[in-house]
Amino acid sequence: MREHARLVIVGAGIVGCSAAYHLARKGWRDIVVLDQGPLFETGGSTSHAPGLVFQTNPSRTMTELAKRTVALYSRLGGDGEPCFYPAGSMEVATTPARWEELKRRRGLGKSWGLEGALLSPGDARNRLPLLDESKIVGAYYVPNDGIAKAVRACERMARPVEGRSVTFHGETAVTAIDVDGGRVRGVTTPRGSIAAEQVLICAGIWGPQVGRLAGITVPLAPMQHLYVRTAPLPELTGETRDVAHPILRHQDRSMYFRQHADCYGFGSYRHEPLPVAPDAIPRPAIMPFTPEHFAAAEEAAGDLLPALRRAEATYRINGLFSFTADGFPLLGEAAAVRGLWIAEAIWITHAGGVGQVVAEWMAEGDPGLDLHECDLSRFPAHAFTPAYVRARAVQQYREVYDIVHPLQQMEQPRGLRVSPFYRRQVEQGAVFFETAGWERPQWFAANERLPDAQRVPNRTGWEAREWSPIQGAEHLATRRAAALFDLTPFTKIEVSGPGALGFLEGLCANKIDHPEGRVVYTSMLNRRGGIMCDLTVTRLDRDRFLILTGGAVGPRDLAWIRGHAPGDGTVRVADVTSMYCGVGLWGPSARAVLSAVCTEPLSNEVFPYFAARAITIATIPALALRVSYVGELGWEIYARTEYGLRMWDTLWEAGRPHGLVPLGVGAFDSLRLEKGYRLWGADITGEDNPLEAGLGFAVKFGKGEFLGREALLRIKAQPLARKLCCLTFDEAGRVVLGKEPILDGDRVIGYVTSANYGYTVGRGIAYGYLPPTHAAPGVPVEVEYFGARCRATVSEEPLYDPKGLRLRC
Ligand code: FAD
Repeated sequence: MREHARLVIVGAGIVGCSAAYHLARKGWRDIVVLDQGPLFETGGSTSHAPGLVFQTNPSRTMTELAKRTVALYSRLGGDGEPCFYPAGSMEVATTPARWEELKRRRGLGKSWGLEGALLSPGDARNRLPLLDESKIVGAYYVPNDGIAKAVRACERMARPVEGRSVTFHGETAVTAIDVDGGRVRGVTTPRGSIAAEQVLICAGIWGPQVGRLAGITVPLAPMQHLYVRTAPLPELTGETRDVAHPILRHQDRSMYFRQHADCYGFGSYRHEPLPVAPDAIPRPAIMPFTPEHFAAAEEAAGDLLPALRRAEATYRINGLFSFTADGFPLLGEAAAVRGLWIAEAIWITHAGGVGQVVAEWMAEGDPGLDLHECDLSRFPAHAFTPAYVRARAVQQYREVYDIVHPLQQMEQPRGLRVSPFYRRQVEQGAVFFETAGWERPQWFAANERLPDAQRVPNRTGWEAREWSPIQGAEHLATRRAAALFDLTPFTKIEVSGPGALGFLEGLCANKIDHPEGRVVYTSMLNRRGGIMCDLTVTRLDRDRFLILTGGAVGPRDLAWIRGHAPGDGTVRVADVTSMYCGVGLWGPSARAVLSAVCTEPLSNEVFPYFAARAITIATIPALALRVSYVGELGWEIYARTEYGLRMWDTLWEAGRPHGLVPLGVGAFDSLRLEKGYRLWGADITGEDNPLEAGLGFAVKFGKGEFLGREALLRIKAQPLARKLCCLTFDEAGRVVLGKEPILDGDRVIGYVTSANYGYTVGRGIAYGYLPPTHAAPGVPVEVEYFGARCRATVSEEPLYDPKGLRLRC
């Protein structure tokens, strides 16, 4: 075995092989892939998976990874033994609710560019003759889904790169990872040590164990999953084709099915979740079959496919694979150990695409695809604790095939992080939603009796779930009087030191070098000019800056900033989130409210828009920023956390005569959308640049070099390929929730990035990127919502206060 490698990959399952293949194709040499098991049937999850590939996913990124995977596995065929059988897929509905869900999934498929159709029961049966059509309402069909032969794909990916660029060693377990000075240095195996510049962990369910060798936590839980294969079915006598039938999902019973020549295989998630301690994983990774967890599945299988009623199961396993807290993979470089990369918790469905983006990321410094949902750095600290990972993974297992509303709240673990105002929020009847562990009021029952409530159009159906008309009342009261909003969950980052200004100028697209007391709204871009972070930077001092960003995106933003900071001690990046609580005090009466408790001058002349000043709120020292994400006069006010409750009470008392209301996140979102403010992760991501997103005003090309400038200049020199547009629905009261396809006739021209109801403008609002042909006010389009077409019109934006007069008054 060689003693040095550029890269050691731990694990030769589908993920390790895919990463090695893609890196080799990028020209990397000296890659060593080590697996503790025999190649390529290693005994890991890949060896036991039946390989069903359903590409449709609520996440655009996951669908894109699946599409790339299908394209890759399809190319790996060649000698008559395919790695992918495009047999098609059907998801069947046995209830009206599921049928509605399948219409929604078809919409998602359209948004993400998948071919597909909704089928009648008869059409579904024509495609899969074993199906009892009387049991279903209909089916969602995707013609190029199918079955992946994963072990074969591993071999096919290894073959062309083996020897030349990559060396594979089976039966070679990594027993230690050498880390020194915050960098990975190599690995140890019973057959010797290898010094390595980088190490990529693709160890699947063993990820937590292997991570531990390097001192890092890989937050996933291995779970048992039951799968059986029958003896030959009389109905399939003579069938020699391995896969001819479409693969099948019966989500109402948490099951899936595939054909194995003249036999059938099926798996079930409908049982008590069975997590396995990372130290107790057997090799190969299968555990004794537990029939008590499969009885209901067997009955349901026979109901839907009567041929299975009499079938004997000859192969029965509890296989093991990984689940994470939010159901997404874990990708990226470990923040604590440079050169140590992770590609974990990945299905065969996505492994081809994942190998490609990880290779891109490692080789080019950028994955080329928006991976924020998968980024290892997305989690707050509590999400690395074993108790949290296990609790969430168990729930993810239960919900794999559930109909999950986009705003559905997790039940446990809750109450992890609360602001100092929590007690008051509870007293005011807050309905809490969770973000990054924070309990955040979505709306307040106390606002039910606001006079504005009469003006809020009612909702029914899917869009009425996890919603209250109170949100509309809070929205209108904010515009009419004033609102108090809890900003404590915002991530607060202090960047300081003699190099701070230069560092931030090089990282931000907007100009940062302003006098102290100035707030700057800016993006941070990647090398392609895509928006990685969207935040404000406030200059507190010559060498001290406060960065404010969202609660959910905060950990990633922090990692991005830290990842670019110089290591020479000239810049200090500190997460000060927990040191400060904050409120937004916004609305036309905000100045009157604040003046009642604050002696500092608050006039527009002395305290203009985008200024930051130290103020006192009665006895409390605070920092006020004249900014507002809701489009009204007002301030973000931050104080040391221990003063929080008193600050809330003081402002609340001062505000009561002015009609101050507590404001929840639900109304906050509709206020920002009416004002056209972009939301990172939805309207803008690393794949969207500021020019397309309408944020060119916050890019200062003239200030000199900054990350992404070159790419953005190239983009600027060309006509824009698309533009983020505001749509309003023609039908009064119409509202959608996001991710729906936008159509011109039958042509999909975009998808909804953000949607809400504009309670002030009296219209449903949706944003989405449209091609230049459609990106002009007045252009009619349609949005597909649960299979129905909703007429909408491209509108001049922002819809509310386009001149920004209310902000600057
Ligand atoms: P693995 O295949 O487990 O590979 C990890 C490798 O790391 C192993 O070979 C292991 O030996 C090696 N390793 C671990 N520790 C060390 C060490 N210390 N030193 C050296 N090597 C080490 N996915 C789908 O997309 N569709 C499906 O239909 C599907 N059905 C499934 C059904 C079952 C019953 C199971 C078990 C899984 C199923 N999956 C399915 C999930 C899928 O199989 C896995 O998510 C995927 O195979 C994971 O690939 P991997 O390369 O990350 O992990």
